[in-house]
Amino acid sequence: MNKLLVVVDYQKDFVSGALGFAGAQALEQPILLRVRKTLDEGGKVLFTRDTHTADYLSTREGKFLPVPHCIEGTPGWHLEGQLAAYEGGVPGTALLDKPTFGAANIADAVRGLCGGEPDEIELCGVVTSICVVSNAVLLHSSFLNARITLLASLSAAPDPADQAAAERLLRGMGYGIEP
Ligand SMILES: [Zn+2]
Repeated sequence: MNKLLVVVDYQKDFVSGALGFAGAQALEQPILLRVRKTLDEGGKVLFTRDTHTADYLSTREGKFLPVPHCIEGTPGWHLEGQLAAYEGGVPGTALLDKPTFGAANIADAVRGLCGGEPDEIELCGVVTSICVVSNAVLLHSSFLNARITLLASLSAAPDPADQAAAERLLRGMGYGIEP
């Protein structure tokens, strides 16, 4: 069983910084435990990091969401709290910096980390209705036999209605939803 956990954008700016929210802050310990459990069981963990440059406000995303965040190298760009320890090259893990919601090269990053197509992919992190969904769809489109599950209680959106909408959307496309 080749299992992968993808932790989407659990960065300071989405948790306690520019775009932070209480629902994200509550996830630090549960995500940390899930990361440790996955690694203990021989699985792999991929952390995505939203990564922008100083000209963010002039980009398409910046016009849609005019709040500078996750500027590369700033404190807000780094993973939140104890998860930051995984930015140091921990065996079984990898980091993937991405310039907008979905990481166009996520499939290659996963193949590199897992040595091929994983049998099972779990997703958690923030924001469920934006970056988690975007990367879930990319993974689903690239890995045709992997079972892909959203860990609902380890993901969050500022508006609970958006969380529910994202879960409904993914369920409707055949993803697993773990409560
Ligand atoms: Zn962004």
